[in-house]
Amino acid sequence: MKNLSILGSTGSIGRNTLKIVEMFRGRFEVKALAAANNVELLARQIETFHPEIAVVFDENRALELKNVLPSGADVEILHGEDGYRAAATYDSVEMVVTAMVGAAGLMPTLAAIEAGKNIALANKETLVMAGEIVVKKAAEKGVSIFPIDSEHSAVFQCIAGHRREDMDKILLTASGGPFLNKPANEFVSIKPEEALNHPTWQMGKKISIDSATLMNKGLEVIEAKHLFGVSHDMIKVVIHPQSVIHSMVAYRDGAVVAQLGIPDMKGAIAYAISYPERLPLKQLIPDFVNIGALTFQQPDLTKFPCLALAFKACEIGGTMPAVLNASNEVAVEAFLDKRISFTNIPELIKNTIEKHSSVKNPTLSDILEADKWGRKTVEELIKGQGMDG
Ligand code: MG
Repeated sequence: MKNLSILGSTGSIGRNTLKIVEMFRGRFEVKALAAANNVELLARQIETFHPEIAVVFDENRALELKNVLPSGADVEILHGEDGYRAAATYDSVEMVVTAMVGAAGLMPTLAAIEAGKNIALANKETLVMAGEIVVKKAAEKGVSIFPIDSEHSAVFQCIAGHRREDMDKILLTASGGPFLNKPANEFVSIKPEEALNHPTWQMGKKISIDSATLMNKGLEVIEAKHLFGVSHDMIKVVIHPQSVIHSMVAYRDGAVVAQLGIPDMKGAIAYAISYPERLPLKQLIPDFVNIGALTFQQPDLTKFPCLALAFKACEIGGTMPAVLNASNEVAVEAFLDKRISFTNIPELIKNTIEKHSSVKNPTLSDILEADKWGRKTVEELIKGQGMDG
């Protein structure tokens, strides 16, 4: 029996993790659940999985949760950052699934590592912002980080049984998102609804927009750098619209090992929480005959400047990736709120990272400071340029 804490239980990854727990009731027990604010769904999850503690970020929402639960429900309700920390470090928990959205994932993930919990990592922003610190702390504490991001899960599977020094390149595949074939001159009029409509993967809002701008792939490049301890120039991005190959690793003898499957996050989640065992998920295998051809393209960095910006931030390192991430989060939020256009997203990120002088070998407080600075700077740019007027 493995005791889990799931941070971000009402999001897409959280819900899929609970589906797996439900399929394999004898193997996993849910001790803690934490959600941002979806009280209705969290209440149902509590009734199904009986965690010992449940956390909602907002205090008022925590009160609402208490009111929705049947009286006598045997669960401690907590809120805020302290609540998240409690769920991340809960005594009987062996593994923490970190599936919160964005920068909010960093502190709870670090707390879980500090407490010696293994991590099933879906929150890539944690590594983007503070990869060096997180990886070093995990090594210090003897903690394993199992990737849930499908590309990184694929790489993780492709390196098993191979010598690290034989690795030549990591090839991260990208579907290209909903606008792969849209002419660049139509990008300015893209609406949030169109950007949320991903061709192959079902995901949350923030990551869907990141996939449409290719920033998601850029963040994944930085994530891969830290997770697999490689330099940025060992990571290449290949557009692969069918999303059947989830990523590949090339070795110095020219051999390329790929991991394939249908685009469903359950595979990567199950592997992360049950490693090294492969659970009998009864997933379909890709219908290769019907798919017919697997195709590949070079990413278009002019049409998708976010990917180029992420490569640049990855190369600079220090606090730059945290600023990239912060400016992206604010820009995506503003786009979803219809305050700015789709093409404003990379413009704002570019202008923000150009203003930032990166701190080398940053401490955690340097990173949090850079994150705050990045957010403030984008807001000022939006207001200053009258983008939201
Ligand atoms: Mg991914």
